[in-house]
Order: sequence, then C-alpha cells, then structure tokens
Amino acid sequence: MSVSVVLFTSDLRVHDHPPLRAAVEGAHEVVPLFIRDPAVDRAGFAAPNRLAFLADCLADLDRELQDRGGRLVVRGGDTVAEVCAVVRQAQADEVHVAAGCSAFAQARQERLRRALEADGCRFYVHDAVITAVPPGDLTPQGSDHYAMFTPFYRRWCAEPLRKPFMAPRDVKVPHTVRSEDLPARSAVEGASPGLAAGGESEGRRRLSSWLSRHVDSYGEGHDDLAGDATSRLSPYLHFGAVSPVEAVQRARARGGAGAEAFIRQLCWRDFFHQVLAARPEAAAEEYRSRRDDWRRDEDAEADLQAWREGRTGYPIVDAAMRQLAHEGWMHNRGRLVTASFLTKTLYIDWREGARHFLSLLVDGDVANNQLNWQWMAGTGNDTRPNRVLNPVRQGLRYDPDGRFVRRWVPELDGLQAPAVHEPWTLTGLDRARYDYPDPLIVLADGLARFRQAREAG
Ligand SMILES: Cc1cc2nc3c(=O)[nH]c(=O)nc-3n(C[C@H](O)[C@H](O)[C@H](O)COP(=O)(O)OP(=O)(O)OC[C@H]3O[C@@H](n4cnc5c(N)ncnc54)[C@H](O)[C@@H]3O)c2cc1C
Repeated sequence: MSVSVVLFTSDLRVHDHPPLRAAVEGAHEVVPLFIRDPAVDRAGFAAPNRLAFLADCLADLDRELQDRGGRLVVRGGDTVAEVCAVVRQAQADEVHVAAGCSAFAQARQERLRRALEADGCRFYVHDAVITAVPPGDLTPQGSDHYAMFTPFYRRWCAEPLRKPFMAPRDVKVPHTVRSEDLPARSAVEGASPGLAAGGESEGRRRLSSWLSRHVDSYGEGHDDLAGDATSRLSPYLHFGAVSPVEAVQRARARGGAGAEAFIRQLCWRDFFHQVLAARPEAAAEEYRSRRDDWRRDEDAEADLQAWREGRTGYPIVDAAMRQLAHEGWMHNRGRLVTASFLTKTLYIDWREGARHFLSLLVDGDVANNQLNWQWMAGTGNDTRPNRVLNPVRQGLRYDPDGRFVRRWVPELDGLQAPAVHEPWTLTGLDRARYDYPDPLIVLADGLARFRQAREAG
C-alpha cells in the first residue's frame, strides 16, 4: 500500500492543485498536511487578520477533503520535523509540495529536501501553483529576472499555461495519522471587524461571480474608490484558495477588455514574485537605492502615527487608512495614494509603511507588499521613481463626489465635493462644524523637501 504526503502551504485548495493531484494519482493513500509552524509566524505571517482568514481556509479545506472521503491533518511545530514525523507514522514513500517564492519558503524547501532524502523518501516540488508562471521561467537576456513590467508582461502573455486540474474525486487518508484540532477563527483576537470570510468555496464563488457579472466594467471602474469595482480576490490568491492559473485561464475564456485588464493585474502579481525570488533581499533592502536619508526624528514619528491612525488632515489618505483598519484590506488606489503620501510627501521610510500594512492586510505578502511599497517609494521597479501623487487631485479624480471619503471619515458627513477633499478651504463657522484635523503638512512644502532630497541623493 503506497502512501503520499501533500504539504499545503500557500495553496489551500483542492481545485487545480498539482501536488494533490500527483499524490492521489501516484499512491493508494494520501495525507493532506498543514503545519502551524511558529517560524512562519515569527517571519511576519502572524497578524490577526491573516490568522483569522487562515482558520477559515483550513476549515474549508477540511470540508472539501471530507466531501471526498478524506480530511485535513494539522500539526503544530517545525515544518521539517513534523513532515518527517508524519512520513514515518504513515510509512509514506513520497512528499509533494508547491514551490515557494520567498527566501523563507526556499530555505524551508531545501531543508525538507535534505531531511527527506536522508530518510529515503522521495520529494517532489511542483511549479505554477502559487503563481501562474513560475518565477525564473521567463528571463531577459543577461539577467535572472525582469526588472521592468512591460517586457515581462509581453513575454508572460505569450507563455502557454496548463489547463486547470479538476479536484480529485476521492482522497483516502490513512486512519493511523492523527490531527490536532483545527484553529478556530473565533479564537483569534484583534481581527478587523469588517474582515472577509476566507476559504476556497468563498474564493471560487467570488471568482465565478466576478467573471460572470462584474469583470466587463473593470477597465473603467478599477480606480473608482467608492464604486469598489475590483475583484477583491487578493486574499484568496494570497492563501492559494483560488488558483492563479485557473483565474487567468477562466478570465481568458471570458474575454473582453475588462478581462484583459484583470489579467494584466494578475501578471503584476507574478511580476513581483519573480523579482522577489531573484532578489529575496528586496523584502528589506532597497532594490535601487536613491540614497534617501529618510526622516527619523520625533516629528517624523508623530507624522507616522497620524498616518497610521488616519488623521493626516487629507481626507482621501485618512479614508483609505481607516478602510485598512476596518476591513484588513484597502483599495489599490488607496494603497497608492497613502504610500505616496508617506514616502514622498512626509518623506518617511517605505519600510515603516510596509510594516504597518503587513500588520493589517489580510492579503499582506512579502512579494506584493514590499515591492509595491518600493515601487511607490521610487526605490523599486517604477520607471518614474520621482512621481508624487497629489492627494487632493487624486481625491477629486477617483472619488469625484466624495462618497468614499464620507463613508470612512464620518466627521466630514454632509460635506460635498470638492470641499470634502480640502476641508481646510472652508472658513469661519463652516469650518468649525467639522471636527477634523488641519493638514499635517502643506503639500508644496512636502514636494519641495522630497525633490531636494532626491536631487541631493
Ligand atoms: C503600497 C501597496 C501595497 C500592496 N500590498 C499588497 C499585498 O500585500 N498583497 C497583495 O496581494 N497586493 C498588494 N498590493 C497590490 C494591490 O493593491 C492589491 O493586490 C489589490 O488592491 C487587491 O485588490 P483586488 O483583489 O480587488 O484587486 P484586482 O484589481 O481585482 O486585481 C486582481 C488581482 O491582481 C493582483 N494585483 C492587482 N494589482 C496588483 C499589484 N499592484 N501588484 C501585485 N498584484 C496585483 C492581486 O492578486 C489582485 O487580487 C499593494 C499595492 C500597493 C500600492
């Protein structure tokens, strides 16, 4: 009787899952295994919003496996030690896992390979599970990764993708392997009140509804802050509850300009993963140094705190920061505006912003978060590193009637656009009616400081 172990990591699904498929096809019995490894938490994963979403994903994965006659086995401890222990208990011949992109995942993979080989167990690493195209598969001449998005996108579009795999019909799990209790979402303290529900079932429902009903208007609507007309699939993609290959393939089958624009965004995800896989140090160090001497004094700390709490006096910035605190998610336009404001207008280190985002974002991941922050700070892959987004103009353009601001900044309720984006222009009693802070900084002053710093750098 042959037994395989499937180690689930950032791929919490049964549909289009190459490691699970290979394990089920190659063995009589399979142990679907998830390890709660304290080292993953220490590496930055353990934010309440992600722990709560993870609990949903694991519960749903267990249900999906039970529908197929199996169950999920959860263990706590060091990944390598636990996998080896399960291999011995189940007398497994092979272990399957999805290829990881971060330095942490790559190091863990290598440790696992060495330990399993020493135990005489076969080890298979499967590509195109966490991204649509494996990092490193596409390279320009003379480099190990693409540093610019557009040429990467052209190559990526021409790359053939596999057909998504069906979920296996039966998963037979050996009785001898015990599981610890699954973590419960209700046991997680400090999650955002408006956090979405996790899990593959919810992710698949959202993907289907998105592609059948909403994707057509994505091209025009994706920047409309109040319209909230993006897919909101990022947490499901981050946890692998939705397969990126399947998302791209189904969007291609759907066709049209909206689907094309959506696919392009999925390509950004692959793009940043291939940058990080080639330059793991970019999680903490500047990808392209501009020799910034970021502000670090007490005033900077006070500005940073006001930014975190959504009380900068710039309504569009504050609205987006409050959305983040309430939902554990922020609209992409909000992420751009708040990141530009922190790094360029306030001239505060992008790592401070990235750290705050990672403490709250349910989709928070090292590749997308750190490299988008670097992109906006001008230390990453942006071809216009010194662009500065003006929060008033951004507000007028992407929240033209002020609905988004009024939704998240109730102090400004009743105020219409354009004044809702620049309440400091009100005078006398009109201004006194709104209990809302004055701007932290005059935009022109922030701009001058930033330009001077970059010229000096
Ligand atoms: C400062 C900053 C930090 C960010 N941090 C993260 C993060 O930690 N995790 C994360 O998944 N995304 C991050 N993004 C990218 C983007 O904002 C989110 O992916 C997007 O807002 C998620 O919403 P959605 O699923 O509705 O996206 P949609 O607009 O529906 O796009 C579909 C999918 O494409 C991918 N995508 C879209 N835009 C980007 C992008 N710029 N970079 C990479 N992938 C993208 C996401 O997987 C997304 O789910 C960040 C962007 C910025 C500017």
